[in-house]
Order: sequence, then C-alpha cells, then structure tokens
Amino acid sequence: METLAVPAFVLDTERRVIIWNRACERLTGVLAEEVLGTRDHWRSFYQELRPTLADLVIQNSPGDITRLYSSVKGDMLAGTQLCAESWCDMPRAGRRYLAADASPVFDDNNKLIAVVETLRDMTAEKQAQLALEQLATRDGLTGLANRRCFDDTLKAEWARAMRQKQPLSLLMVDVDNFKAYNDANGHLGGDECLKRIAKAVASEMRANDLVARYGGEEFAVILPNQALKGAAIVAERIRARVEQLRMPNKFARDGRITVSIGAATALASNGTDPSELVSTADTALYRAKHMGRNRISLPATEPA
Ligand code: GH3
Ligand code: MG
Ligand code: MG
Repeated sequence: METLAVPAFVLDTERRVIIWNRACERLTGVLAEEVLGTRDHWRSFYQELRPTLADLVIQNSPGDITRLYSSVKGDMLAGTQLCAESWCDMPRAGRRYLAADASPVFDDNNKLIAVVETLRDMTAEKQAQLALEQLATRDGLTGLANRRCFDDTLKAEWARAMRQKQPLSLLMVDVDNFKAYNDANGHLGGDECLKRIAKAVASEMRANDLVARYGGEEFAVILPNQALKGAAIVAERIRARVEQLRMPNKFARDGRITVSIGAATALASNGTDPSELVSTADTALYRAKHMGRNRISLPATEPA
C-alpha cells in the first residue's frame, strides 16, 4: 500500500485513517503523520465538512452519494466497489477533479473491517472534455450558443413542448444596417459591436431560455413555455436594450445600432415541425425590416 503508485487511504469501521500512502500525500499535500488515527481525512479534499466516498460506504448511506458526487457507478447496497467523480477544492493542492473508488474489505465471517479508497486525478481529462464541449456548442466570438447547439436545442424543446402541450416561442434578431457599420468601423469594430449586442440580448434571458448566434449578425432566442404575447414583450425588451447601447451607426435611420426582431410561436394544436417555426419568425423579421427596421414584428395571425 505504501509504495503503490495510486493514491490510496484506508479507514477502519470507526472511520479512522489506518493507511495514507505516499501517492496520497503527493496528491493532497497532506502527510500521513497528520491524518493517521484521526477522522480528519476529509480536510485534505474539501474546505467544508463532508464525507468521503469511503465514509459513505462505512455509513451505508447510498442516498448521499448522488447528492455529493456528480457521477456515480456501482451499487453500494450490493456491497461492491463504488466509483464516483467530483470536483474537489483541496485546501493544499487546489481545485482538482478526482475519481474515487471505495472498496469494502470483509473478514472471513463477511463482517466489514475496513474500506480502501483509491483516487485518480482526472483534472486534465475533465478540462479537455469541458473545452471540447465548449468548442462544440459555443460561438467563439460572442460566447453564446452556436448554430449547432441552437438546432439541437430547438429540436429538443419542440418535442417537449408538443408532448407537454406547452407553447414554444422563437425570436430571430438581426442587426440593422450592419454592413455599413462594418464598413465604417472595420471588421474588428464590427466584432466588438456583435459582442456587445450578444451580451445585451443574453442579459434579458431567463434560466430556461437559449440565446444563440444563428449566423453572421443574426441571433436566435428560444423561449420555452412562452406564448406569443410573452415573446413579444421579451422581443421589445431586447430591441430597447440594444438601442440603449447607443452605439453610433451614421448610416442607420436612427443614427445608432439597432435590431429588428421577428417572433413566432408553436402550439401543440398547430405544430408541424421546428423548421416551420424558424421560417415563420424569419418572415416576421423581414416584415420588420420592410416596415423601417428597429422594430419587432409578430406573425400576421396568431395561431389558434
Ligand atoms: P439589414 O438592416 O437589412 O439587416 O442590413 P445589413 O447591412 O445588416 O445586412 P447584410 O446582410 O447586407 O449585412 C450583414 C453584414 O454582417 C455583412 C457582413 O460583413 C457582416 N458580418 C457577418 N458576420 C460578421 C462577423 O462575424 N463580424 C463582423 N464584423 N461582421 C460580420
Ligand atoms: Mg442578416
Ligand atoms: Mg442585418
């Protein structure tokens, strides 16, 4: 145990540390002499008092495992090895993503005598996974959801709305006269402007809403459980918010950066498919452009 390359510690049935190996010392920055014989092992991994996986096996409290760990494998009730992963703010070693395995040790009479916990530092793998997820779903310039994420979310929200017979609204937001802004301020100036608009739009959203960069200078907003009336209120808030950024655009009619917004709502009674929702919102958007820009537009007739 002492020379094992894998960080490991062992608790007796009183939850006292009886082994704390070298690799565990290296992982946690806590020496064996500091923890042996104590119940203070948790302090090596967490800032605040909470049980380790080994403690949960000894205490036989499976309910706590899913609450305390982000990912759990194995069945504690079956008395087998348990695996769980979570972020740990370790007081000496810093924030690390650790995978823990806790295995009960039984005597000849099948009585629990100890629990061995081994640990793996998965921080690098977890960070790589999060970075990949970020790349796959976020827009690089604005940090908003990207087009792929928008398509997936719209499909999922559509299915949920139809199943639960809830309305689903969509806003298509397009920056007015943006080509002129780009020409006057350069591409980098245009990028900066898009970032500020993205931030302004995102600030108007609730937790379940999704704002995405649909393409170029167009944004799309998915509003679950929102009927057309509510969607129109959100759209007007976004329009006003962007106008209040007061970014000059001398070619625009209002002399500043503004957006036009088209809204559409799908209801279970009239829904056909998500792409129809996009084209209805698009049609409304073009109407807003034709009516002079810096305005919102709703579908000609609200769906029954
Ligand atoms: P309208 O009011 O009709 O929407 O006019 P518009 O000029 O905004 O529309 P148009 O589609 O003609 O021009 C969009 C411009 O957006 C053209 C393109 O150069 C610019 N654009 C698209 N993506 C980006 C980007 O990522 N960065 C920058 N800086 N500009 C972009
Ligand atoms: Mg456009
Ligand atoms: Mg535009």
